Amino acid sequence: MKKTIRVLQWGLGAMGSGMARLTLEKPGLEIVAAIDSFPEYVGKDLGQVLGVGKDLGVIVTDQPETVLDRDKVDIVIIATTSWVAHQMPDLRKIINAGINVISIAEEMSDAEAQNPELAQELDQLAKQQGVTVLGTGVNPGYVLDLLVIALTGGCHSVDRIEASRVNDLSPYGPTVMETQGVGTTPEVFRQGVADGTIVGHVGFPESIRMISEALGLGVDRIEEHREPIVSNVFRETPHVKVEPGMVAGCAHTGIGYRGDKEVIRLIHPQQIHPQLEDQDTGDYIHIYGVPEIDMAIKPEIAGGIATMGIAVNMVPHVVAASPGLKRMIDLPIPAALMGESAYHRRI
Ligand code: NAD
Repeated sequence: MKKTIRVLQWGLGAMGSGMARLTLEKPGLEIVAAIDSFPEYVGKDLGQVLGVGKDLGVIVTDQPETVLDRDKVDIVIIATTSWVAHQMPDLRKIINAGINVISIAEEMSDAEAQNPELAQELDQLAKQQGVTVLGTGVNPGYVLDLLVIALTGGCHSVDRIEASRVNDLSPYGPTVMETQGVGTTPEVFRQGVADGTIVGHVGFPESIRMISEALGLGVDRIEEHREPIVSNVFRETPHVKVEPGMVAGCAHTGIGYRGDKEVIRLIHPQQIHPQLEDQDTGDYIHIYGVPEIDMAIKPEIAGGIATMGIAVNMVPHVVAASPGLKRMIDLPIPAALMGESAYHRRI
């Protein structure tokens, strides 16, 4: 194996800790530093935090400046928040240190969609410092955008696209239950949507913009609708109980229009235990065009696993890419890192 790529993992929560464990398995990658502000992690060896049964000689810190050294780190993977504005201070530190970065913040998958000024700043800063910044994840970043775009690769024409991801929220914690409105009444759900406490999925404007731009569909308006999924049966997770008549999840739809014509419809019903009402999970992409394409992946591509995977798998591409702010449509397709050639693809 040629020189390994040195990775700093920033954020060791559900996603970040999984990415760190995956990075440890990859012979072309090496974890050289880790940052998390959670007091119980700070000062501990990363091996203990990850529960891998041995020390790794990497001490978790909450002081980024002590480890952001371009002579020791090739790339940071950051898994801390969903929002570009929240992540900006940390992204500025990484880029100003002259280090590449992959973020799984949903809004970073196409930062220009909702944060055009911050996106411009990131792009300029990255170009000044000669580094690459990528936003990715399973969704947005892969299933409801990159995969959709790739499926149109042989199409002569595309009239409209409809894609849906039906998933199971049961494994997630209290924050997700609250932001999806699980366990509320339909009235409280609607109130939460109105006051912004129930957000549903984060990422439709980003996914729709990426698809529209990649194909040239000319979307000029995006609408989002959030409806309660009202349960007919009792459903329960360690964090929430849902009686019949209460909300088991959020059916979130994002629609992209060109003028009055709907050209992209993305549907993401997220609920706990969908199987209790005979709803299977799955990813479905329907391209209405020439040729017509109808793809179904059942069950859904596992969200957490695939987010960890895609962030780590993109590391070699980001290290090799030209400087600037990138999206998944700007870089070579992701591929599992299974051997030496995967780490040294020419782009
Ligand atoms: P989590 O809450 O389990 O973990 C976040 C971790 O980051 C925590 O350990 C916390 O202490 C740490 N942290 C937060 N801010 C920090 C900061 N400024 N400096 C240092 N440490 C900090 O969350 P998670 O499940 O790992 O997900 C992380 C983010 O990624 C979430 O916002 C989630 O919505 C997003 N996400 C995106 C996708 C996608 O498809 N794009 C997929 C999964 C998760």
